[in-house]
Amino acid sequence: MGKSICYLRIKLIFLVILLSQGIEITAQDCEQPNYCDRLCWSPQGNHPAQSNPAATDPSHIIVHHSGDNLIWPVGTDFKMVVQAYWDQHVNTNGWADIGYNWLIDRNGVIYEGRGDGVRGAHFSCMNQSTTGICLIGNFELEAPSAAALNKLKDLTAWEASDKNLDVLTPSRHNNSQLDLFPLSGHRDGNSSPAPQSCASGTVCPGLNLYNLLPLARVDVGNYQCYNGNPNLLDCTDAINLTCGEMYSGEASVDSSSVFSYACNNWTETGPERVHIVTPVGDGPLKAELSGFSGDLDVYILGSCDPLDCLGTVSSNAAIYEEAKAGQSYFVVVDSDDGSSGAYQLLVSCSTPVGTGDIALGSLITVFPNPTSNWLNYRMSMEAKLEKIEIISVLGQIHLVEDHQGSIDVSHLPAGTYFLRFTDQFNRMASLKWVKN
Ligand SMILES: [Zn+2]
Repeated sequence: MGKSICYLRIKLIFLVILLSQGIEITAQDCEQPNYCDRLCWSPQGNHPAQSNPAATDPSHIIVHHSGDNLIWPVGTDFKMVVQAYWDQHVNTNGWADIGYNWLIDRNGVIYEGRGDGVRGAHFSCMNQSTTGICLIGNFELEAPSAAALNKLKDLTAWEASDKNLDVLTPSRHNNSQLDLFPLSGHRDGNSSPAPQSCASGTVCPGLNLYNLLPLARVDVGNYQCYNGNPNLLDCTDAINLTCGEMYSGEASVDSSSVFSYACNNWTETGPERVHIVTPVGDGPLKAELSGFSGDLDVYILGSCDPLDCLGTVSSNAAIYEEAKAGQSYFVVVDSDDGSSGAYQLLVSCSTPVGTGDIALGSLITVFPNPTSNWLNYRMSMEAKLEKIEIISVLGQIHLVEDHQGSIDVSHLPAGTYFLRFTDQFNRMASLKWVKN
């Protein structure tokens, strides 16, 4: 006892020395989630483990579904279901044990199959260096539950941090001769050229689960415990942007602390720079990059959290349709490939129609402002428009024919205009708008 306390003390002192010298200490691995072990799901002890398990060091986690011909009803005794799979695998298939390393039911309960570090029987005769996780259900017929998916991610985060697997980058799985993500579906092995493969075109783990694996990888990549990378964004020096005004950003020398965002499934290796914008109207918010070299991406976040990524991201723009007036959004420019070149950033916000009849003006927003080709407007249901006019600063009026929410303004010369809306009660509201 005395010896172990002393040892702990030495470790603590060592840790303090390391911290005071600013040496980076790798965070601990993610914790292994709780699970129902064999005695838990087979209390009678009549579903024994194999006597001579073959050890394997997993480089890849292979996801399965059980593919049963039914949707398990609420209240199913999943311990008995696991017993049935054991019986099938051992007594019908003639295997040494249940094929999977782990199983997860729809309530998020994890069951121990062959367990950690044991070669299973699940990946079409290419089981070396894999661990097999089976979600109980048929995900061609239904979608996996959130509880089950979360446990899959917890289990993956533990396994990946324990075995130092980079879940976001494909790596060679020698036994299948394929480059696979370290979190892959059974069907990813279908194309194996390996001579011993017995792949037969399986749909496992079912399309509804398979399609969620890219996002699951990103989510695991965002676990703070995973590889010690906290994926935290620093928003303290966020640059203020004004809607409609082009911002010229210098080549970023900011740090690279975020490697993934919830809006997509690729990794960001370069530095990121944070901006902040507060739209004055409800409706679409668009951030668009131009004039840059290298590989920059832009994201709109609802808070200073890469997991709170909003809307959709394309190669050089991000758009979030449901932005709210008065709420601040973080706009992050991040370089994908490590480059950190200069850029221009234009954030377009919806603009409320401000002057004129306040009641009418409050029902209409316009997007984007400024506009080059298509000007969009949105009205709440109560507004019944009679007329839309575009008025130049010289007072020249262009009547707008299209009342379908989009106006073609490509033919107008660049400059400042007023956009005037008139409703059925002859109320008018207008807004200053720039054509570029
Ligand atoms: Zn499978």
